[in-house]
Amino acid sequence: MSAFEHAGVPEGSGDMRPPTLASDALRGARVTVVGAGAFGGWTALQLQRAGAQVTLVDAWGPGHARSSSGDETRVIRASYGPSVRYTQWTVQAYADWRALEALTGRALMTITGALWLYSVADDSYMRMALPVMAAEGIPLEELTLEDTALRFPQFALRGVRSAFFEPGAGFLRARLGCQVVASQFIREGGTLLQAEVKPGRIARDAMGSLITNDGGRIDADRFVFACGPWLGRLFPKVIGSGVLPTRQEVFYFGTPAGDARYESGSCPVWLHAGQDGVSFGIPGNDGRGMKVGDDVRGPKIDPTRASRAPSSRAMAWAKAELAERIPGLVAAPVSESRTCVYENSPDGHLILDRHPQAANVWIAGGGSGHGYKLGPAVGRHVSALVAGATASVEAFGIARLAAVTPA
Ligand SMILES: Cc1cc2nc3c(=O)[nH]c(=O)nc-3n(C[C@H](O)[C@H](O)[C@H](O)COP(=O)(O)OP(=O)(O)OC[C@H]3O[C@@H](n4cnc5c(N)ncnc54)[C@H](O)[C@@H]3O)c2cc1C
Repeated sequence: MSAFEHAGVPEGSGDMRPPTLASDALRGARVTVVGAGAFGGWTALQLQRAGAQVTLVDAWGPGHARSSSGDETRVIRASYGPSVRYTQWTVQAYADWRALEALTGRALMTITGALWLYSVADDSYMRMALPVMAAEGIPLEELTLEDTALRFPQFALRGVRSAFFEPGAGFLRARLGCQVVASQFIREGGTLLQAEVKPGRIARDAMGSLITNDGGRIDADRFVFACGPWLGRLFPKVIGSGVLPTRQEVFYFGTPAGDARYESGSCPVWLHAGQDGVSFGIPGNDGRGMKVGDDVRGPKIDPTRASRAPSSRAMAWAKAELAERIPGLVAAPVSESRTCVYENSPDGHLILDRHPQAANVWIAGGGSGHGYKLGPAVGRHVSALVAGATASVEAFGIARLAAVTPA
């Protein structure tokens, strides 16, 4: 299952926008959030804003290199196939990322537009997005190949059958985003701790405390575990293989000297759907060059212990894909690489739900290669779950994990 082909759509009836909590909805409640990636960081910030006394705990810190959120950049795009919910959550996320930029003075989001190129006949994911985007008032165009060639001369269109362009899409500075969210959380009164923790004992439908790696305890009234690829290990019975960590390699390619055609000022984010799945590129920014990766699930990885050194096979693939899509970069050298981790749910949808045996514990994860951008919306939804102000979305429930066959 790719991040672009979720099984079913996580819709429901009524308003699907993420909720906004009143500033006193959780006044006085002590909440501990474990995990300072995109999901945990935003959840902690939203809980703090709702009046809770929040402690955010992370084993290595916000946006560290082994976390799913820990690379330099992640794509933000509102086109989500037929899903109204994901599109509306992304609309809210855009507003929240922009508000955070305004509050902190840090540049986190760059709008470049996103160009989708289809070499396969089935472009239904983007075709189904057209009416959803139109209903939300967000521009998304189907381009002719002639128009595509004129507007984006950097790209080779050999084999391409259809093309779409979302002008409002772009990329977020991922690692930096986590760090800025955590700093803002501290500024608003939250506490950030570095510790590895284990879930505490559950008795009478509640967890009382967390156990730290040095044997200490962290007490709270309510707990949120937003532990990305580590969720299955922390909750072997409740999550287990419902979150599958996979190895995902990305490469940065140095662009020609004095040539801005492949930088974010002149080149869009791009996605290419081919026979082997979806590949993507993020144009040069912060002096890093063009980033190339793919959305095909790699082998299972241990997120703590696995070496993150690049493989020659993935590097050769990325070079070939770049040369095929952007011939002007055929000689571009690899300048950097990252080995990232997807935290796949079996159907590609998020996991945002209450622990089935503990009424004061919630789990947030399953970003599955598309979750980063949604961090602010996840934070809104999960803090409303913690406050008892919204119901769980069935498609994001824990119960479905057992029923869904892993793709
Ligand atoms: C290569 C790649 C490309 C991607 N592209 C995109 C994209 O273009 N757009 C997009 O929106 N998304 C994308 N994603 C997905 C997105 O990055 C993830 O869905 C998102 O970052 C998940 O965030 P998280 O907070 O759930 O997990 P993480 O960022 O992994 O955070 C979990 C945190 O929990 C902490 N933790 C775990 N266990 C413990 C413990 N026991 N005690 C204390 N702390 C603990 C970890 O240290 C970690 O910091 C991509 C992912 C990858 C790997």
